[in-house]
Amino acid sequence: MSLIVQKYGGTSVGTADRIKAVAKRIVETKEQGHDVIVVVSAMGKTTDQLISLAKQITEYPNPREMDMLLSTGEQISISLLAMALHDLGQKATSLTGAQIGLLTDNVHTKAKIVGMKPDKIIQLLEQGHIIIVAGFQGMTPDFDVTTLGRGGSDTSAVAVASILKAERCVIYTDVDGIYTADPRYVPKARKLKMISYGEMLELASLGAKVMSSRSIEFGKKYGVPIVVRSSFNDEDGTVITEEGERMEDVVVTGVALDKDEAKITIQQVSDQPGIAARIFRVLADEGINIDMIVQNISDKGLTDVSFTTPVAELKKAISVSEKIVKDIGASRVVSNDKIAKLSVIGAGMRSHPGVAADMFEALAEEKINIEMITTSEIRISCVISEEDAERAARAVHTKFKLDREG
Ligand code: ASP
Ligand code: MG
Repeated sequence: MSLIVQKYGGTSVGTADRIKAVAKRIVETKEQGHDVIVVVSAMGKTTDQLISLAKQITEYPNPREMDMLLSTGEQISISLLAMALHDLGQKATSLTGAQIGLLTDNVHTKAKIVGMKPDKIIQLLEQGHIIIVAGFQGMTPDFDVTTLGRGGSDTSAVAVASILKAERCVIYTDVDGIYTADPRYVPKARKLKMISYGEMLELASLGAKVMSSRSIEFGKKYGVPIVVRSSFNDEDGTVITEEGERMEDVVVTGVALDKDEAKITIQQVSDQPGIAARIFRVLADEGINIDMIVQNISDKGLTDVSFTTPVAELKKAISVSEKIVKDIGASRVVSNDKIAKLSVIGAGMRSHPGVAADMFEALAEEKINIEMITTSEIRISCVISEEDAERAARAVHTKFKLDREG
């Protein structure tokens, strides 16, 4: 029998009524003749509440105990969901991460999955049970409970689907799929039928919060199609899958905007071997995440080095940069947190020239200045001012013919 893995997020199981609605949906899938494993998150904001409870006890909760605490959230939702299924006359059993043999390393609160001993789950499936699995949690080889990092139940779901060779992994969430852009500021954005793993990974790294990057990496590695759809309606969602079946003429699949970055420039850096290494080594040692880097052409042996960093790390990045300025004899640090990173993503870029030119033209037509540019094989990103960002996103979206008709 074909196996389907479904995952329901916190909002989808946020109340008793919603849990009952989810149970009905699970029964429909079961009655279509599939084996079903369901991975669930904690109800609503439970995980946030548990974290805040711990913080009321101590400023620095012990990570092992934190995992013990956080894993309880998912145990509530799995048991309730199993009860709801029993009420609908189904055989259903809830299992914790440990009970499905999901083994992780011992990095508490952000553990990585290393394997799975699925004997119990397979046995129960053979007996016709619907299996309800606690997402976000696993176990070390020493029987300690671990969690996989915030949003980790996606990773649990895709991992289980991968290891048990499920036909697909369906992520039920509070959005109805992946869009060509964020409909909040690009009203003509369209829902995509399909997107490749690579494109989805780019989107996730650009701040799309629909799914965690690690879950997409799992899907990609094992080739399990992931479907993202709403748990509140019956519309088809978006399939995340291998490239290939895509239409040849699709060059750009989506437009993404990230407003959570800031730019720092270290001015008048002496242009010599080893200076960039020193700057970025110090930043790295201080744990500052760097995204884009641009170094200007030097003038009289001096150059400017600019980089972007998450706004949340800006203060620290500035103070570290000021220290660097002293060490290397540069002139000063300037920063700007009113920037945005606009990106276009598309696997079709590999075979279509001119995508960068089209993007820059769209911005030029809107008289929007580009401050920095970076590219990957399937992405072009520009730093622009935050003020222009949403208008720029709409212009680029139109330029690449992504707008919904009508
Ligand atoms: N309950 C966990 C969290 O809120 C895991 C998840 O929802 O995926 O992060
Ligand atoms: Mg969640």
